[in-house]
Amino acid sequence: MKLIRFGQPGHEQCGVILTDNRRLDASAAFQNYDEAFFENNGLRHLSAWIEANQATAPLIPEGARLGSPIARPSKIICIGLNYRDHAEESGMQAPSEPVVFFKSTTALTGPNDGLKIPHGSEKTDWEVELGVVIGKTARRISESDAMDHVAGYVLHNDYSERAWQLERGGQWVKGKSADTFAPLGPWLATADEIADPHNLRLWLKVNDVTKQNGNSSNLIFKIPYLISYLSNFMTLLPGDVISTGTPAGVGLGFKPPQYLKDGDVVELGIDGLGTQRQNVRALK
Ligand code: ZN
Repeated sequence: MKLIRFGQPGHEQCGVILTDNRRLDASAAFQNYDEAFFENNGLRHLSAWIEANQATAPLIPEGARLGSPIARPSKIICIGLNYRDHAEESGMQAPSEPVVFFKSTTALTGPNDGLKIPHGSEKTDWEVELGVVIGKTARRISESDAMDHVAGYVLHNDYSERAWQLERGGQWVKGKSADTFAPLGPWLATADEIADPHNLRLWLKVNDVTKQNGNSSNLIFKIPYLISYLSNFMTLLPGDVISTGTPAGVGLGFKPPQYLKDGDVVELGIDGLGTQRQNVRALK
């Protein structure tokens, strides 16, 4: 299944995209795609609801805004330097253990809402990433059990302010957390939709020029390992997002570096997870 949320920011409603590409309004039956939804077998209920209602449920209006396909999660956990070519372009060693950082959940936004370069930023950068959405509570789980805890996958642009991330001391979180820095979607593809999450092409263009063109086959730390690893340090809740890292081709890696400016257009996509488009505006 492909889950979407549509409507005005903060008032999104539940929908689904069917295999024939019709978009059904599921809001009569489902309140939100949030922790409670995933916790209470929401995906199974949604599947049964589609079966029973696909002929009669209302369609989502053409042109409706899409929000993040999941409601604000308890955590957005990011993995740093998880592609060797990106570690190299960043001038850093490929890590021997996963680099883990948080991204503020208030950074979450819809896939096509646009990027707002924050006040005072001079080094706002892009990062196309495969996001994993947790489907059930995970505490100290093994790698072999990890994939049972995945609800599905989602496209994420892990926007990053490099000066705030790397030149201001302390942790990376400062450079990762501004409003609009986490466009998610357009849809959450349930795990059964993605035959092999470790063989997905990821790409990103700025002003129609390809910057990133990678494949999740090159992840240093694979998804089951990451879920198991993280679950030893913290409880993963249903709806939580793990963003698995970005391949080479971010602005920081160019010589000289390239950063986003007012008027730029960023487009990105992952096989099976759709595409995003962000118009860039600089806050003044
Ligand atoms: Zn990232």
